[in-house]
Amino acid sequence: MGTDSSTLFGALFETLPARHVVPVLVPLPAPGPYSYAVPEGMHVEPGAVVQVPLGPRQVIGVVWDGENDGKLDPKKLRPITSAFDCPPLSKEMRRFIEWVAGYTLSPPGLVARMAIRAPAALDPEPMVEGLRYLGGEPERRTPARAKVLDIVDGDIPWTKAGLAHAAGVSTSVIDGLIRQGLFETVFLPPPPVVAKPDPDYSPPRIEGPQKEAAAEILELVRKGGYSASLIDGVTGSGKTEVYFEAIAETLRRGKQVLILLPEIALTASFLDRFHDRFGARPGEWHSDLAPRMREKVWRGIVTGDVQVVAGARSALFLPFENLGLIIVDEEHDPAYKQEDRVFYNARDMAVVRARIGDFPIVLVSATPSVESQVNAQAARYHLVHLPTRFGDAALPDLHLIDLRRHPPERGGFLSPILVRAIGKTVERGEQALLFLNRRGYAPLTLCRVCGHRFQCPQCSSWLVEHRFRNQIQCHQCGYSEPTPEACPECGTLDHLVACGPGVERIAEEVEKHFPDARTIVMSSDMLGGVKRLRLELEAITKGEADIVIGTQLVAKGHNFPLMTLVGIVDADLGLANGDPRAAERTFQLLSQVTGRAGRTGLKSHGLLQTYQPQHPVMQAIVSGDPGAFYEREITEREKAVLPPFGRLASIIVSADSRADAEIHARGLRAASPHVSGISVLGPAEAPLALVRGRHRFRLLVHGRRNSDMQAFMQAMMANGPKIRGSVQVQIDIDPQSFL
Ligand code: ADP
Ligand code: ZN
Repeated sequence: MGTDSSTLFGALFETLPARHVVPVLVPLPAPGPYSYAVPEGMHVEPGAVVQVPLGPRQVIGVVWDGENDGKLDPKKLRPITSAFDCPPLSKEMRRFIEWVAGYTLSPPGLVARMAIRAPAALDPEPMVEGLRYLGGEPERRTPARAKVLDIVDGDIPWTKAGLAHAAGVSTSVIDGLIRQGLFETVFLPPPPVVAKPDPDYSPPRIEGPQKEAAAEILELVRKGGYSASLIDGVTGSGKTEVYFEAIAETLRRGKQVLILLPEIALTASFLDRFHDRFGARPGEWHSDLAPRMREKVWRGIVTGDVQVVAGARSALFLPFENLGLIIVDEEHDPAYKQEDRVFYNARDMAVVRARIGDFPIVLVSATPSVESQVNAQAARYHLVHLPTRFGDAALPDLHLIDLRRHPPERGGFLSPILVRAIGKTVERGEQALLFLNRRGYAPLTLCRVCGHRFQCPQCSSWLVEHRFRNQIQCHQCGYSEPTPEACPECGTLDHLVACGPGVERIAEEVEKHFPDARTIVMSSDMLGGVKRLRLELEAITKGEADIVIGTQLVAKGHNFPLMTLVGIVDADLGLANGDPRAAERTFQLLSQVTGRAGRTGLKSHGLLQTYQPQHPVMQAIVSGDPGAFYEREITEREKAVLPPFGRLASIIVSADSRADAEIHARGLRAASPHVSGISVLGPAEAPLALVRGRHRFRLLVHGRRNSDMQAFMQAMMANGPKIRGSVQVQIDIDPQSFL
């Protein structure tokens, strides 16, 4: 009997059209899509953005590819709640999402989630109320009314505010005219989020080495199809102008452009510059965007109304209607790596997106990553070189200050040589930048009497003193407490000492030497957030500060016309941290910071304080021959079979208890398959052994260049211990951080 009825039902369901059941990717860490029934009368195709029930909730999902094999009973499946009125994610976009999920070993639903937005974004924008002049004269033609009537005619509708603004009157004047029946109400389509950029608005005169560089890139853009280029040019060589040419050409071809920037929230000057060139700002995409604006920009991107987007790494997952070019500016920047949920490097994934979408990508940097250098040498990337600064701007003169021979005064951190240079700069009415990549006052506080060190209660990191806020703070988890007066260990009052400098402490020293100078301290944790930082950057640009003390925040892309001295307080800081990219990173960061000086033709200097003047990184920076440094780095990486000559993947196992984390990590190690060319290092307790109360262990998987790391990791996970209790496992393919 049982068999009979199942055959019967089976036959019945086979006659139903397959589209009655569709796979839908939901924002969950599941290995694949879930099946949903399509209600009568609803039409969905792969890529459609839909709302579906998931447990007790409603979530947004994407209808995925793949045929229903007819075995699933639509009656037993929950139906799709609604389909949104927006274009479906393109086939390329769906392939890209699958590719990223497969490469990073992330659940595809979590990757897809980065591409879609909240439902409100999908509803069409409401019409805007407007006014149309019907003709006729008011009872009294006051001067204010005349101003309005002089600019209106019957054909062009206005918004009330827009008309008042254009006529230079208050809206009450217009209200008066409406009451007299001179205007009718009309409904206007909503204004665009951003105006259309005009490729021919204000093209520069491209000359010299720029001309050749632009011509090469333009040729690739015109030819169409996938190509990858690397623009390698010193700071201020005109790289931006060159890629603007590629953008202009792409716009002329009616395609969209994505510009990735590492620190978009702070690059107001970039947006202005884009405006100067194209007569409109690009759409912005970053975490500081107001929610309403986010929705509008998203919608504009999906419909193709927003033609150019400048965004942080997450912009890479926006479902452009017709993307035709990606620019990755400062391609070497570590900010392109996301280390949260889906671990990916936006620079590398951007190349994948261009390949799948079959369009050009341009990587840009003054200090390209070793990976990109190697790709250029192997002709996988087309190399465009800009060796000199544009116009009469010269690169700063760079010198090392050997701190062993010219030590700072007792209790200070600035060598007399640097102090003197700052004094001369300020006297000339120019600006000095002091760079130290450390927030707060001091990285460590201890008790002089008993030696107690202030440590975060939930992380293995010191509490950093922030004197401006009178707090000690953990830079891992944000934990903070008021700066104590007594030692909690021995109870002694007023014997706490600050060890080492942060930017706030350098500011104190500067204040002592130059009490009359106008100083600004800039770091990402200052009160007032991005708004204040933007205002301060503007103030610096206008010359309203003499001495700027900042973290890497000031290093990125800014153009300060009066800045002629850059002092690096601790050039050795990034070198000794066990990271295989430490030398490369230090070289990049220091080159970028010193590159802030002398961008407008004034003679400029860079002074680097170091205890290791012979270190290859220091020598590379002052020699003006970065080529030799890169050659050496590349040779060493090749010898050690490190990326890009070999492959790395890391696994971080964390748990509430140290034992649980360690046992699980050991289990994974034991479960690793034997594959020639791949080896597993660890598990070892992570350098950051405790974060937010979670104990961490690390495994590092090392493979040869052609190793199938993903298959290896998947086998490890499948054969390894079941994840239970508080245990969490994070996989990081191509890790950048080893903490
Ligand atoms: P990079 O991106 O390499 O740091 P930029 O593109 O910012 O360099 O150029 C440095 C400076 O030179 C900028 O102020 C820019 O406006 C100016 N510049 C570059 N190319 C041109 C050009 N062709 N015509 C006029 N000014 C230019
Ligand atoms: Zn902490």
